Amino acid sequence: MKQREQRYRCSVCGDEFRRKSNAFTPTRSMLYKGNGGFLTICKTCVGEIYTKYLEKFGGDECKAIKRMCMLLDIYFCDSLFEASKNSSQLNRMNAYLSKINLVPYINKTFDDYLFSSDYEDISESENSETKARKISSKYIKVWGYGFSYEEYQFLEGKFS
Ligand SMILES: [Zn+2]
Repeated sequence: MKQREQRYRCSVCGDEFRRKSNAFTPTRSMLYKGNGGFLTICKTCVGEIYTKYLEKFGGDECKAIKRMCMLLDIYFCDSLFEASKNSSQLNRMNAYLSKINLVPYINKTFDDYLFSSDYEDISESENSETKARKISSKYIKVWGYGFSYEEYQFLEGKFS
């Protein structure tokens, strides 16, 4: 009796794929251990979700990839981000994922980024306009005019 080959189902589109179809990215994150070590979202759906985040972050590829890494429990680092720039992949997220199993990164997950000094909270990053508004409303009253946002922050931290 011939055994049926195991198929992997994408948790987004619901399509089933054979292991050798290459539809899923392999990862060492323990979240996917029972799924043969593959992400549960196929590469096409990963690309679509990434495109939505890219729009949400105003075309900022770095933030969109960080958000995807958070979602999929994937390690983020700048050198991988840079390496994903010139690739023939459909989009930069899949280009990024195609490199996560290289030796220095293979056993890392999002936690390794989260607890590193490189971690940036993408929900808190501010543009210069927001910074300027904060200066006028909050710091000038206390410290007077003429300082940059960073200098006001320094004063606040040091003397308050
Ligand atoms: Zn899918």
